[in-house]
Amino acid sequence: MTFGDLELIPLLDGFFRLDGGAMFGVVPKPLWERRAAADEKNRILLGLRPLLVRGARTMIIDAGIGDKMDAKSIDIYAIDRARHLDHSLADAGCPAGAVELVLASHLHFDHAGGFTTRDASGTVRPRFEGARYLARTAEWEDATHPHERNRASYFQENFVPLRDAGALDLVADDEEIMPGVRVRRSGGHTMHHQVVMIESGGKTAVFTADMIPTAAHVDEAWIMGYDLYPMDTLAFKRAFVREAIDREYLIFFEHDPRVAAGYIREKDKRKYVEPVISDS
Ligand SMILES: [Zn+2]
Repeated sequence: MTFGDLELIPLLDGFFRLDGGAMFGVVPKPLWERRAAADEKNRILLGLRPLLVRGARTMIIDAGIGDKMDAKSIDIYAIDRARHLDHSLADAGCPAGAVELVLASHLHFDHAGGFTTRDASGTVRPRFEGARYLARTAEWEDATHPHERNRASYFQENFVPLRDAGALDLVADDEEIMPGVRVRRSGGHTMHHQVVMIESGGKTAVFTADMIPTAAHVDEAWIMGYDLYPMDTLAFKRAFVREAIDREYLIFFEHDPRVAAGYIREKDKRKYVEPVISDS
């Protein structure tokens, strides 16, 4: 879609499943299962939707789960990459070699998995050759010094090879990445998780990553059990969702199984998403 001077194209790296209880934190199952059906293992379907931004540079935000997951993880997370990032980049007329910037919301495996790939010799390398990869400095520090609570989400092979290849640039603060695109720290999910604000032609779109992972998460208290700092998530969401409704931000949902983008609306104090781009 054309968005001011930019072009925004939601990509897809397939689907996976996570525990429904973990995805909705303190919300009881009788409430969340009306919005997201659970399978026999209590898992709900989630999309993996990086965003392609074409403007002064060609950029992707996050890169999906990638192709390095082992058989056990593919089973646990029900990873379905029958259609993956290469397909959707091809559909967008954007060969991998055309990607100049790869921006990370944070470095969890379902966002950074596609940053690297294993070559024929078994060596893990940056997947987008010639691209610069951008991660927030403090998120990088946390990811490369994991503790017991976050170790299962930070796989070093997803990002350390970027540094080793000299392809990594660290972003210290809320900064402009290219004209019309800037990062904004949200915290909450991880201490230095960031959303991406995209502004052009008087309009604003936001890639909210794990701050609002699906359209079912627009209610302030519907916060993932995975979040390390849920009260920070709550504080950010309170202000952000208000802002998004009042200013009509177009929200890109990275993990929604169906809705790639939509507007958050409010009617009779109930919040909901009006889809703009969704799978048929
Ligand atoms: Zn995450």
